[in-house]
Amino acid sequence: MIEPSLPEAAAGSYHSAQVAVDVRLNTNESPVSPPPAFMARLGERLAGVSLNRYPDRNAIDIRTAIAVKEGRHPEEIFVANGSNEVLQTIFLAYGGPDRSVYLAQPTYGMYTQIAKSTRTTIVDGKRGEDWRLDRFDIDPSAEIVVICDPNNPTGLAEVGGLASLAPERPDSLFVIDRAYADFADGLEAWLGSNVVEVKTFSKAFGMAGLRLGYAVADPEMIKVLYSTVLPYHLDSLKQRAALVALEMADELFSVVGEIRRERDLLIEELRSLPVRCWQSSTNFVLFAPDHREARAVWSALVERSILIRDSSTWPGLDNTLRVTVGTPGENARFIEALREVLAN
Ligand code: PMP
Repeated sequence: MIEPSLPEAAAGSYHSAQVAVDVRLNTNESPVSPPPAFMARLGERLAGVSLNRYPDRNAIDIRTAIAVKEGRHPEEIFVANGSNEVLQTIFLAYGGPDRSVYLAQPTYGMYTQIAKSTRTTIVDGKRGEDWRLDRFDIDPSAEIVVICDPNNPTGLAEVGGLASLAPERPDSLFVIDRAYADFADGLEAWLGSNVVEVKTFSKAFGMAGLRLGYAVADPEMIKVLYSTVLPYHLDSLKQRAALVALEMADELFSVVGEIRRERDLLIEELRSLPVRCWQSSTNFVLFAPDHREARAVWSALVERSILIRDSSTWPGLDNTLRVTVGTPGENARFIEALREVLAN
């Protein structure tokens, strides 16, 4: 058998454990299922799909509905199977062997994996003491700059003046990942034809299983993304389901307030334990146990049927763990188990 030409990327770097447990707080999903009214409407709509036909290649209905939600035009919207596919399409179109991407660790691991699989050179950036980016540190030589704001896995929102980089650097493409934006306040607005904002249905929308994400950008860039992605990449069932989700967006989003309140309570609870815990503008919280090995704490929680994310081997994140905000019951169970583990 021949060797893969991309051995590192083929091995992949996405390793969220899939373990059968009672409480799953490891992948930053929404803890609540869509309401019964959504499922009922979905059932009706899916029944009418003509599966013998290819789907609408331009996904025009969902692009129009997303454009309304975003206050933009449908030509400014590109839709794909999760924001991971949006990111991959951006790298396929604008990255590659002669291009570089600026990535400041710690940040979302898929950027590195996609850069490698598209053979885009990584320019390693740095973050300040508080893990935030400083506009003066962002390497001007990189053609692509990825900024995850709020950032995964730190949970922090950026604070100062980064958006003014876009007009100053017309030869760079700024990819702003807004996966967790709905859990944050006062994020900077990025504008310009060299800016692409990436969003997802997987977090605040509560539809991780639907695999849907989108880009908001200049129509010229959207055309390029559509000429890069495979034809008919969004199946007909997904297009129907997405439309129902967009019609019921207000209802689906109504859980966001509750998740934010639960997150703040979770932080308060964590602060009463022997751990260092960071602020969060997302639906997850990063913490580091005092005088205990994070991996051992993670395993002890799995033994108690609670799965969180072991981030301790990620760049710059020594001895940290990341927990997704769950339902009040799940969060209480997690805190109780963690208290017990840390007391032993
Ligand atoms: N961006 C960030 C920052 C994420 O954390 C995630 C998922 N965890 C994604 C993008 C990808 O999300 P999806 O493909 O489900 O839209």
